[in-house]
Amino acid sequence: MDAGIGDGTRAVRAGLPEPVKYEPTLPGPAFAAHFHLPGEPTGPYTYGRDTNPSWTLLERAIGELEAPGEPVETTVFASGMAAVSAVLFSTLRAGDTVVLPSDGYQALPLVRDQLEAYGVEVRTAPTGGDAQLSVLEGARLLWIESPSNPGLDVCDIRRMVRVAHEQGVLVAVDNTLATPLAQRPLSLGADFSVASDTKGMTGHGDLLLGHVTCRDAALAADVRRWRKVVGAIPGPMETWLAHRSLATLHLRIDRQCVNALALARALSERAEVTGLRYPGLPTDPSYTLAGRQMRRYGGVLSFVLPDRDHAERFLDALRLVDDATSFGGVRSSAERRGRWGGDAVPEGFIRLSAGAEDTEDLVADVLRALDEAAGPGR
Ligand SMILES: *Cc1c(COP(=O)(O)O)cnc(C)c1O
Repeated sequence: MDAGIGDGTRAVRAGLPEPVKYEPTLPGPAFAAHFHLPGEPTGPYTYGRDTNPSWTLLERAIGELEAPGEPVETTVFASGMAAVSAVLFSTLRAGDTVVLPSDGYQALPLVRDQLEAYGVEVRTAPTGGDAQLSVLEGARLLWIESPSNPGLDVCDIRRMVRVAHEQGVLVAVDNTLATPLAQRPLSLGADFSVASDTKGMTGHGDLLLGHVTCRDAALAADVRRWRKVVGAIPGPMETWLAHRSLATLHLRIDRQCVNALALARALSERAEVTGLRYPGLPTDPSYTLAGRQMRRYGGVLSFVLPDRDHAERFLDALRLVDDATSFGGVRSSAERRGRWGGDAVPEGFIRLSAGAEDTEDLVADVLRALDEAAGPGR
């Protein structure tokens, strides 16, 4: 599609086939383990683990959002972790080195163990500043998560990519938190844009999916081959639901961003709230940098309440915000991140994902829950 159109126009049309008389706008899920295939087994559709027409349409749609007007290749996966693993395990060999963020997604330590078991050297450093660059020497792949989950730190992706590429290091960006509407890693120079589409990309909290987009055809072919080898394929129904959900991506993300900023402003006024992070809040340490590389600031914020009990009272008191993990959905959610034990965060640390509710209702609910959590006689 034309690179000059707006995000909303692009989202509602992304990946749709040319109109065919009497056919639906978005063809339904292609439920097929195999396809009619007389004669020579040439593509495009042969066996359901290799290819599926519903994947093709969604991959085209995501590609248009990741890099409008550019020839990129997208591969969809059964989950975000399937997509993450596809990049790591198709790129790295025994003896290679990879640099991962030390404050990234909570499954990365598990991935680290697996990579090390296969003879890959894993180095870690925090997302903020240049820390990852200081351990880059001799690496094959740099893994960036910006904004990071759950700490919402931001690094200068263009600069990281420039330094990495000078040293022949590939760069992957986990773009889950931002979605392509808020940040386009390939336009910042990254080799891979990777995401869990379980979160904001599909936004309804009812399916798991992931994708990898790259410009380089050889890298894309390795990723695609990995999907076939491990069989980490999305079901046609999930694929179709994801494509359907993309039509409202801009509406959801825009409202989530408005709501997140309103909540961040309200939270910043509260004495019991510390460590507030939202890259779109002008007083946030990442605000200027995020503004240079992000197109929107996303719907997730984090902050710290005085202790575990206080945080749990707050979560219990919320009515419009579900106590649930994950983020990016149309219904606001929040959780005390420390309950998982994996992240290095204080006991009262809360990650809050702003949904698509009316802003005044959501802010009022959070402020009321804060008052209740602070207790009587305040
Ligand atoms: C959720 C998440 C993943 C994993 O995605 P799944 O769809 O749960 O497999 C990877 N990276 C980030 C940043 C995430 O938030």
